[in-house]
Amino acid sequence: MANIIDGKAISLAIKDEVKAQIPELEAKYGRKPCLCVIIVGENPASQVYVRNKVKAAEYVGMKSMLLRLPEETPEADLLATIQKLNADSEVDGILVQLPLPKHISEDKVIDAIAKEKDVDGFHVLNVGSLWIGDKCIVPCTPKGCIHLIKSTGIDIKGKLAVVVGRSNIVGKPVAKLLLDENATVVIAHSRTADLKALTLQADILVVAVGKENVVTADMVKPGAVVIDVGMNRNAEGKLCGDVDFAGVSEVAGWITPVPGGVGPMTIAMLMKNTIECFLLR
Ligand code: NDP
Repeated sequence: MANIIDGKAISLAIKDEVKAQIPELEAKYGRKPCLCVIIVGENPASQVYVRNKVKAAEYVGMKSMLLRLPEETPEADLLATIQKLNADSEVDGILVQLPLPKHISEDKVIDAIAKEKDVDGFHVLNVGSLWIGDKCIVPCTPKGCIHLIKSTGIDIKGKLAVVVGRSNIVGKPVAKLLLDENATVVIAHSRTADLKALTLQADILVVAVGKENVVTADMVKPGAVVIDVGMNRNAEGKLCGDVDFAGVSEVAGWITPVPGGVGPMTIAMLMKNTIECFLLR
C-alpha cells in the first residue's frame, strides 16, 4: 500500500514558515509584502481558487488585494489596471486568475505583468529564464510538485520521470524542473502512441491531464512516486484527480490524494513566490 503524500500538512508547514518571515521582513523593509489577485467574471471554480489564495495571504499575514472585474471588462481596461499595479510600489505580486473571458488575450495579459511582479511565473521572460537556467520566478504548481516529490526522501537524480501533459502552466515546467534535478524526463501527451508502455517504466509519474482515471493501477510501476495534478469533478460531482487513487495506491510507493495533494501546495508556493518578488524589488 502506497504512502500518502500529505500535501495539506506539507503546505501548512510552508505557510507557517512564510508567516514567521513576515514580521522580520516588515521590521527590515518597513512594510509587508503585498499580493494583488485579479479575477474577471464569475467562473465558479476561479472564485474558489481566488478566495483560497486571498485566505492564505491573510493566514500568513501578508497584505492582499482582490480586484473583481466584471465579465465584460474590455481587454484595454484590464491591461490599464495591470499597468497601474506595475507602477504601484506597494504591490509586490500580481496574479490574474485564468481562464479569462474569451474576448481577452491571456498571453497579452500575462506579458503585461511586470516580470518581477509575476508571482505565477507565466511571463514569457520568466519562462525563458526557467528554460535557460537563469534565476526566475518558478510557476507555483510545478514548484509544489517538486517539493512533494522531495518530501518522500527519494533521490530524483538518475530516475526516469514521466510527465503526462505538456501545458505551459504545468506539464512543460514540471518536466524542466525534473530535468534540473537530473531526472531523465519523458513528456507524454494526447498523441503519445503507447502511454502505458511509458508510465510502466516511470520511477516518478506526474499526471497533469484534466481527465478522470487517465492513469490506472495497471499503468504504474510498483513503488513509483505518483503526483496527481488533475482537478476534475466525477459523476457524483466530487473533486477527483487524473489518477485512479484507490487502484494506484495498491501499486505505487507514494501517491498524492485529490483533494489534499498538489492543490494546497500551489497556494503555499504562491505565498513563497510573493516573498521572492518582494525581495527581488
Ligand atoms: P491542459 O488542458 O492545458 O493540458 C492537458 C494536457 O494533457 C495536454 O498536454 C494534453 O495533450 C494532455 N492530454 C489530454 N488527454 C490526454 C490523454 N488521454 N493522455 C495523455 N495526455 C493527454 O491542462 P493543464 O495542464 O492546465 O491542467 C491539467 C490538470 O491539472 C487539470 O485538471 C487542471 O484543473 C489541473 N490543475 C491543477 C492545479 C492545482 O493547483 N492542483 C493547477 C493547474 C492545473 P495535448 O497537448 O496533446 O493536447
